[in-house]
Amino acid sequence: MNFDLTDERQMLQDSLRRFLRDNQDGLRASTRLGDTENTLGFDAGIWGKLAELGVIGALFSEEDGGFAGAGFDLTTVFEELGRAGAVEPLLDTAILGGGLIAALGNETQKELVEQVIGGELHLALAHGEPNSRYDLAQVETTAQVDGDDIVLTGRKAVVINAEAADYLVVSARESGAASDEDGISLFLVPRDSAGLSLRGYALLAGGRAAEVDLDGLRLSADARLGAAGSAYAALKRATNRAEVALAAETLGAMEAATELTREYLLTRQQFGRPIGTFQALQHRMATLLIELEQARSAVINAAGHLDGSAAEQALQISAARNLIGRAGRLVAEESIQLHGGIAMTEEYELAHIAKRIVMADHRFGDTDTQLERFIDQSAA
Ligand SMILES: Cc1cc2nc3c(=O)[nH]c(=O)nc-3n(C[C@H](O)[C@H](O)[C@H](O)COP(=O)(O)OP(=O)(O)OC[C@H]3O[C@@H](n4cnc5c(N)ncnc54)[C@H](O)[C@@H]3O)c2cc1C
Repeated sequence: MNFDLTDERQMLQDSLRRFLRDNQDGLRASTRLGDTENTLGFDAGIWGKLAELGVIGALFSEEDGGFAGAGFDLTTVFEELGRAGAVEPLLDTAILGGGLIAALGNETQKELVEQVIGGELHLALAHGEPNSRYDLAQVETTAQVDGDDIVLTGRKAVVINAEAADYLVVSARESGAASDEDGISLFLVPRDSAGLSLRGYALLAGGRAAEVDLDGLRLSADARLGAAGSAYAALKRATNRAEVALAAETLGAMEAATELTREYLLTRQQFGRPIGTFQALQHRMATLLIELEQARSAVINAAGHLDGSAAEQALQISAARNLIGRAGRLVAEESIQLHGGIAMTEEYELAHIAKRIVMADHRFGDTDTQLERFIDQSAA
């Protein structure tokens, strides 16, 4: 099989890699170290340039106003973001928020996707709740129809990019029990709506999130995305795409960590020679490189199945994320160990990259959860 990128994807990769390399200072600014002054959580200038470069458009299909949008387009973009340690919320604004509006929205709502692609609009998916853990169907927030209005009441936890978002895509239950797949709807909620309050905070690996309270928030019925109570399938599809993108981002971060480690071993002199000439360290480095190739294969496999059946997607995505969770942690921890004390300094690139790798595992389902999903799916 030929695993080379197509010419278009190669061009996208080259221009994005060059852009991220040339803009390292902006990417590393306050947003990484939890500067409380910056409640955006990213650099607005860099966001605008990513849109100009066509990076956001590459995450949407032509039908939705973009120019790519397949699994391998997502992995091409996110691998580069991961390599640069970028904290820019493409996953939240484009894949999750934008993806759900593209999937469920009416003509008027879909106009927002154009603005997302143009870099003018930010989104956040307010779905997870204090009790939901990794269960996508667990929604306790309620949506009550009241005359022509809908009233949302509930709490959403760790809503990434909430403070920067112009709209939150909020899930709420219109019928059924708390963990039923049926009965969940999505609503487009302007961030400045009365009845919506945010408590924002910096995330450990960069960027920001917020706890969101919905206290009798009143919307008109045209804020609903799609038919009442039937959003679960679209949520699952968007989350699958996000999981593949996140796996690719972690792969990129693993590449950066191993490259930094290789450079250190070839540069750091001890006993009159580079420490990379000691066999004990070469063996450890070789293990990392093998794990990296395994992770790359897993991402390619998962991306290739993104258009497959629901069962096939579930199986391959869990396999990839379980493998990357394990391999990623090994790469992060071994890279720190092989660097010695320098890896403990916050200013050194590896410290940030290692945090990105470890924290990515806790989104959408960690290594153990993915193993359980894989077993369940294999037995089904
Ligand atoms: C939080 C913190 C507090 C510290 N406090 C103190 C302190 O109070 N006093 C003090 O003296 N030091 C202190 N240190 C420094 C610490 O002792 C060194 O960081 C540590 O010894 C590793 O040295 P290095 O960072 O220079 O790594 P390097 O010497 O560059 O080594 C990098 C890696 O290569 C491995 N390695 C090196 N040579 C070989 C070899 N020949 N064969 C196999 N493996 C090899 C090392 O084990 C390590 O994994 C501290 C460090 C940290 C992070």
